[in-house]
Amino acid sequence: MIIVRNKAELMPILERQRVNGKIIGFVPTMGALHAGHISLIENSLKQSDFTVCSIFVNPTQFNDKADLERYPRMPEKDAAMLEKAGCHMLYMPEVMDIYPETDTRVFDFGHLDKVLEGAHRAGHFNGVGQVVSRLFDIVKPQKAFFGLKDYQQVAIIKKLCEIQNYQIEIIPCPILRETDGLAMSSRNMLLNEEERKAASLIPQLMQEAQARLKNAEPIDSVKKYVFEKLSHNPIYKPDYFEVCDANTLLPLNSLTIKGPSIILIACFVGKIRLIDNLVMN
Ligand code: AMP
Repeated sequence: MIIVRNKAELMPILERQRVNGKIIGFVPTMGALHAGHISLIENSLKQSDFTVCSIFVNPTQFNDKADLERYPRMPEKDAAMLEKAGCHMLYMPEVMDIYPETDTRVFDFGHLDKVLEGAHRAGHFNGVGQVVSRLFDIVKPQKAFFGLKDYQQVAIIKKLCEIQNYQIEIIPCPILRETDGLAMSSRNMLLNEEERKAASLIPQLMQEAQARLKNAEPIDSVKKYVFEKLSHNPIYKPDYFEVCDANTLLPLNSLTIKGPSIILIACFVGKIRLIDNLVMN
């Protein structure tokens, strides 16, 4: 695996690949890699000729400075995991390589960044738009792989491609979970033993909510049930629990629409904010 730390090194290598007709697959990450990230790499290896993974903890998408500071960083372990998975290139830039000057662009994502994560993390998706757009300009992939764990982010990236006119195929990949159902996340390693155990209530509640909704229980009543369950232990601080149209991400009052619905949750367990979702089948 080739490891590069700046775009001046990376760009000519990737240009050679493109000239030779190779399809470049790209997996942007913030590191502290787990099996969920590796599944994206595996998807890229299958669907492209040359797989590039980036590890960059993007300061512009953190609205909480403490969250940015405590975000786990373990570059050596990450590089070993990527090497083992068969990734071709790892790009690990410094902030100056991505933002030689401050990125002042403001993207208009329409309603997409005003709901759910967008409503609770001011500026988060604009920061995601900035970094992904910078990375796309540098890597120029034909395909880019994103996890459905960050469901709203996938919608934002698709919109970004429309706005910026990127001819990049965005490939959403399924959520990988731990055996107790908790969605894999770099943030899980910040949970202590008690918090880690408590976190398994999140996927459990989504499953219960799905069963109740299928049983024709009104959305409001299901929401009440979920918040009530979370109020039993002060370790939980829910940010939101919503049932939305899976295509538009607009919150639903009832399950009368024809298309797919999605349950989305954001909840602090201790100091760590976790998100998850379940597309209703
Ligand atoms: P992050 O490093 O958290 O920014 O995530 C990098 C990419 O990995 C994003 O596209 C995430 O959606 C994806 N990802 C994170 N966790 C999972 C998971 N449990 N299953 C599948 N993809 C994931």
